[in-house]
Amino acid sequence: MTESGDLAPIREAVRALCADFPGEYWRELDRERAYPEKFVAALTQAGFLAALIPEEYGGSGLAMTAAAAIMEEIQASGCNGAACHAQMYTMGTVLRHGSAEQKARYLPAIARGELRLQAFGVTEPTSGTDTLSLRTTATREDDHYLINGQKIWTSRAEHSDLMLLLARTTPREQAKTRTGGLSVFLVDMRETKGKGLTIRPIRTMMNHATTEVFFENMRVPADNLIGREGDGFRYILSGMNAERILIGAECIGDAKWFIQKAASYAGERVVFGRPIGQNQGVQFPIARAYIGMRAAELMVREAAALYEAGKDCGSEANMAKHLAAEASWAAADMCVQTYGGFGFAEEFDIERKFRETRLYTVAPISTNLILSYIAEHVLGLPRSY
Ligand SMILES: Cc1cc2nc3c(=O)[nH]c(=O)nc-3n(C[C@H](O)[C@H](O)[C@H](O)COP(=O)(O)OP(=O)(O)OC[C@H]3O[C@@H](n4cnc5c(N)ncnc54)[C@H](O)[C@@H]3O)c2cc1C
Repeated sequence: MTESGDLAPIREAVRALCADFPGEYWRELDRERAYPEKFVAALTQAGFLAALIPEEYGGSGLAMTAAAAIMEEIQASGCNGAACHAQMYTMGTVLRHGSAEQKARYLPAIARGELRLQAFGVTEPTSGTDTLSLRTTATREDDHYLINGQKIWTSRAEHSDLMLLLARTTPREQAKTRTGGLSVFLVDMRETKGKGLTIRPIRTMMNHATTEVFFENMRVPADNLIGREGDGFRYILSGMNAERILIGAECIGDAKWFIQKAASYAGERVVFGRPIGQNQGVQFPIARAYIGMRAAELMVREAAALYEAGKDCGSEANMAKHLAAEASWAAADMCVQTYGGFGFAEEFDIERKFRETRLYTVAPISTNLILSYIAEHVLGLPRSY
């Protein structure tokens, strides 16, 4: 599957912007576990983070394939889109299920860079992957909801104004369907921080600005409910396909970065009087990583094209994310091996990217759960959980 030529200027523009944020910029932030404010501001100013916002709301009105190309190029340039990718993948839920009034209230300000929609609160400490057993509740009282509970791994909550939050509005045993009773809210954290909302950072092996968040009688106006009460799981699921495609594209970008680094180093590094890349034992793993990346890229493009055409893409989005995450991790491992000892030295950026790309076989959905999805929904095997 080839890509249409109109994406070439977007790719070029992203690469040009990323050139201003070289390895040293990311290394310094990585050491301090600091947020890449300048990078995110530059992407916002250039309009890339508003790619999916329709033109009538001040965005660029681009489609999923363009958004995927933007995220891929960020990673392929050695930068880290994890600092801001949520604004892209939460957008589908707001666009498809938000009211006209909500879109008019929030989207133009997001497009102008005055409001950040970077936090997505789904995972909880006790439910993990089993989203339907989440315990955070939202109880309606007059014109607002009171939210109580806890989320974990709510990335970028400290660097976002808005959070898309999934909470239970009907007790599980009273819900009409297995997936019913959950609702989605657009929480304005500027109004709730310190007033029922507490955010605590979690330090991780890579620089990811992730947090745990606690809700204690946090008031959210009923106007901030997205779509219909009780239908939230369905809305989040449709958004998750976008998330998988975009993360898949990021993994392709990572894999391209590792492969380019390894091929270039293997051509230059001379040991035993010849370039190490002249040895098949060094060149074959690079070639294998390239083949794996190209195959995964095809699936990411197919999933993005289906999403863009409004077609069902659940299995393609899952397979794309799976293949791409495996390809980027394989390329990362190969790159360290190719560099030998230098692969571990901070100044080459490989160990940093290695840690960063490791995430994607676990989040936003772990490999086992993708395999379970394919086994059940594509192969017709019994549900295993
Ligand atoms: C850095 C980071 C950032 C994140 N950002 C966000 C975010 O912004 N918002 C958000 O909501 N979440 C976020 N997450 C959460 C992420 O989506 C989850 O970590 C991921 O979905 C896995 O859930 P879990 O950690 O609870 O693992 P668990 O569900 O506890 O699973 C642990 C292991 O058991 C396996 N397993 C569980 N059940 C089964 C089964 N039935 N069959 C086979 N294997 C099974 C899983 O595959 C996994 O390998 C983030 C996580 C990390 C680490």
